[in-house]
Amino acid sequence: MKNISRENTFKLICSVRDIVEKEIGLPKYFEEDSSKINMELSEVDFQGVSNGFLSEIVYAITGYEVEVIGEVEELFSCPCCGFKTLTELYDRIEGTGYEICPYCNWQDDGTSDINSYRSINKGSIVDYRNELRINSNKYYTNKWLDGKG
Ligand SMILES: [Zn+2]
Repeated sequence: MKNISRENTFKLICSVRDIVEKEIGLPKYFEEDSSKINMELSEVDFQGVSNGFLSEIVYAITGYEVEVIGEVEELFSCPCCGFKTLTELYDRIEGTGYEICPYCNWQDDGTSDINSYRSINKGSIVDYRNELRINSNKYYTNKWLDGKG
């Protein structure tokens, strides 16, 4: 199996996206909502994304089985779903955090009590975990590294 770097994987995805956008005139679909026209990908969108998931994307685009290699950027584990999705942790003193997990949608507010109702999340961590069990987003289960490992 051939290797491809994370950097080249990003370039591949951007170039394919450019072609598709030109072909179908993607921005035209959003004329009524101009805020959505600038949907350019940035490398930040791939921070923490697992090499396995990127390999799947390369396969979906090209049909080639390749192994994406390179160091995955270190992110923090979401207190709710456990995937490494957060670029910073909640810190009341520093005033940082409050990130919304892109997998489970839990907003990190420093809660460690999983049963505690949080008004910012309109529910508890247990509620969010139950919701994930019912409506798991299978497409993303391989996207981020598991915080436990
Ligand atoms: Zn999460």
